[in-house]
Amino acid sequence: MKTAVLVDPTALVSTDSYGSPDFIERGYYLDFPFTCVSCGSEEVWTATQQKWWYEVAKGALDSGAKHCRTCRRDARQQKGIAHPLQNIQNWFSLVRDDLGPALLTAGWHPVVGDGESRPTLLSYNRGDVLVRFRWDFSSLHSSRPAVILEYRAAIDAAFQTLVQIQCDLSNMTHGELQRRFDSLLADARYELGLGAKS
Ligand SMILES: [Zn+2]
Repeated sequence: MKTAVLVDPTALVSTDSYGSPDFIERGYYLDFPFTCVSCGSEEVWTATQQKWWYEVAKGALDSGAKHCRTCRRDARQQKGIAHPLQNIQNWFSLVRDDLGPALLTAGWHPVVGDGESRPTLLSYNRGDVLVRFRWDFSSLHSSRPAVILEYRAAIDAAFQTLVQIQCDLSNMTHGELQRRFDSLLADARYELGLGAKS
């Protein structure tokens, strides 16, 4: 059963810079189911909450529900508390902890020296084949580097990208960082033949 709550257009912030959102056209707010971008849980942004957001809190008309209640509470509590994944140095030691044993079992060896053990690289080889995790800061926003898993079939071959994951270290919530990291591990495990994709 959906609840409808009337819109008071005079209480909204100026609509000049936006297209007209659905609820203005319709004249009332409806309960709005959405999926949390951080944890993927299903949540409902109720009609009453929307009225409060747009008319009392004067929320921008193009803003809406993105994070579930739990993730928003976590984000508030996390303010000022660092998460290990906010420090790029920690990513590869966590990757090494997680994938290292399976890589060794599969015949891969960690590469030390030859420039492959820099903090922005984590490399393994098996014969002439090299795979490595690499931070890439060449994207437009340096606060949003990418982690790339790449593969080189022979010493004189070019690297090919197997997995690429974008990170916004300063703006992503802890849950989002963790989810991005977990998907990096899952994709890497799959691409390296270390296990099924979860
Ligand atoms: Zn959530």
